[in-house]
Amino acid sequence: MENKLLNTGIAYLKGVGPQKAELISAETGVFTYWDLINYFPTRHVDKSTLTEIRSINNESDTVQIRGKLSKIALLTAPSGKRLTATLTDSTGSIELIWFKNYQYVIKALKEDALYTVYGKANDFKGRYSISHPEIKLYQTEDNVKGLPLEPVYPLTEKLKARFMDSRFFMGIIKQILHHPDFDLPEYIPESVTKPMKLIHRKSAYQQIHLPQNKQVHAAATRRIKFDEMFTLAMRAEKNKANRLIEQRGIRMPKVGELFNVFFKKYLQFELTNAQKQVIKEIKDDIGSGKQMNRLLQGDVGSGKTIVALLCMLIAIDNGYQTCMMAPTEILATQHYLSIKDLLADMPIRIALLTGSTTKKNKEKIKQALQNGEIEILIGTHALIEDDVNYNKLGFVVIDEQHRFGVAQRAKLWNKTQLIPHVLVMTATPIPRTLAMTVHGELDVSTINELPKDRKPIKTIYRTENYRAEVMEFIRNQLEKGRQAYIVYPLIEESKKLDLNDLMNGYEMVTNFFPVPKYQISLMHGRMKPEVKDFEMKRFKEGQTQIMISTTVIEVGVNVPNASVMVIENANRFGLSQLHQLRGRVGRGSDQSYCILMTKDDMNFTSKKRINTMCKTNNGFEISQVDLELRGPGDLMGTRQSGLPDFKLLDLVHDDEIIDIAKRAAAFVLKQDPVLEKEENIPLLNYLKQHQQDNFWGRVS
Ligand code: ADP
Ligand code: MG
Repeated sequence: MENKLLNTGIAYLKGVGPQKAELISAETGVFTYWDLINYFPTRHVDKSTLTEIRSINNESDTVQIRGKLSKIALLTAPSGKRLTATLTDSTGSIELIWFKNYQYVIKALKEDALYTVYGKANDFKGRYSISHPEIKLYQTEDNVKGLPLEPVYPLTEKLKARFMDSRFFMGIIKQILHHPDFDLPEYIPESVTKPMKLIHRKSAYQQIHLPQNKQVHAAATRRIKFDEMFTLAMRAEKNKANRLIEQRGIRMPKVGELFNVFFKKYLQFELTNAQKQVIKEIKDDIGSGKQMNRLLQGDVGSGKTIVALLCMLIAIDNGYQTCMMAPTEILATQHYLSIKDLLADMPIRIALLTGSTTKKNKEKIKQALQNGEIEILIGTHALIEDDVNYNKLGFVVIDEQHRFGVAQRAKLWNKTQLIPHVLVMTATPIPRTLAMTVHGELDVSTINELPKDRKPIKTIYRTENYRAEVMEFIRNQLEKGRQAYIVYPLIEESKKLDLNDLMNGYEMVTNFFPVPKYQISLMHGRMKPEVKDFEMKRFKEGQTQIMISTTVIEVGVNVPNASVMVIENANRFGLSQLHQLRGRVGRGSDQSYCILMTKDDMNFTSKKRINTMCKTNNGFEISQVDLELRGPGDLMGTRQSGLPDFKLLDLVHDDEIIDIAKRAAAFVLKQDPVLEKEENIPLLNYLKQHQQDNFWGRVS
């Protein structure tokens, strides 16, 4: 820490001491002065006015009142013990109530003393009371007039029980902020702070806790959020710059025979403009002599696979091998079969390598790969195992990247001398700002439109009472020659129970759709890969009309004839999962439907998820809501996302700050790539010092 004072343990603060310090640390993770001034208030309240008790009405929210305390009493009601007291001012009186921790409170309260009380007034049949108020013995110097905005800190029950309330925190934080040795030197160069109108760091910390008014508070918040993003962006930009300088890449200058022939003869549809644009971006990138690291995001069904394939053809045209890695065997197999089919009449050798490839076959593939006899290798993570060696690997595609850990990705790097170009595809669209933040080291391409012939999927919500109607609806679709999925949740902890659900579902469905008129596929994760492949193949070829399964079909599966997706116990799925599942239909030109079913009453988040699904098909909007409901860390699994734990910055709503901070970082590095100019030395030092508390070290 740049300031010695700020390294001091909080036990040294007046009124804290070792015991309280220990409790504060345990409850809030605050150990030092620096931690404490980073313990930001959640809001501020205006305590510069007193309310007359008489004027409290049901429109009053939180009120501040002052009066004499009387009738302190511990009551035993059927619902449990509670402490009550009455506060009286010159206009009336009101009851104060404690249901918890009254044993501590009762010891502190003094009959007939004057108190200032702050809290939310509740209306109980016209009689007002305040539960668990903030209460403070009145002292003559407590003149509320002109009091500044008062910070409200996040508190836990244990802290409150020991009277460590917002006022307490305000007091101890004040000690630091007003300490003669308190200082926070500026580290962001003036070339940034000036045009961005950022207030000084030191004053930002003072004003975020104890603001003079709302405007300065906003400026302080903006400054601290800026810092959070700016340091992150500096590191990301720096890594990117390093990569561009150091990572010379394989130059793939030409678009050749294979690409052209395939494009003219075998591509069965017109590419969307977004697909064309992305192919151009990739083509330019891999032709530039620098190593490409690109994230391709596009909603489910937007046609990412064909984009990847066309780019792989360019790589092969330039004399390189390519590989495509998928997260599941089903998906790898599906990619293999469809790509093999598309390239059937072209002189390209393709192989599939997964965990269930036989030993003998694997040896053969490895040999061929090493001899350069395979141009496209498709598989699961089996294809980055240590003993798999390529002859001349130039282009790597990673499909549905959110299933892969960063470490796994890194393994690929060591397969050849010159690092291959990497295209990471994801259908769990991350909001753009988040993508830029998480993948600071990646360039981002986006397919933001679906192929023209697609009709938006209609999504509806039905409870169990409508079971028969839903089944009739499916029958109707099957009669038109379409197919349907029925999906059950399978959650790790209760595998048995869920498998029961699936089996009961299977029985229920076969009652509605008896053989031999109808053929039904059943699939779950514990089946052998061959069995899954077999069932998938039957469904894909239209030999079965209904696929009952767990989420093993979640990602990537492509059966354009399927037009109904029924999701059972939909309340148990996350939003991005629901969206992925829904994306299994609507892949052809028929109108498709998604039916979300639930048995039980739903909680708030489940309701919100289902409403969102019914309202929109747009994956970006959906991931935005998902982010709000779950928080960014959880969206991709904290470990994998490498997202830092922002204290103030809100990745969903702080677009503007994220954007300017990124631009500022790029600007600084452009002027001074290694931060050697005098004005940038403080920044360099700051980044070095704060290396540890940033996620970057862990990820890259
Ligand atoms: P995703 O982006 O979800 O991986 P896919 O690559 O599986 O989507 O493509 C979904 C379906 O759309 C496939 O059947 C694919 O052949 C088809 N497709 C891709 N691009 C187009 C297009 N431009 N026009 C029509 N169909 C397309
Ligand atoms: Mg896909």
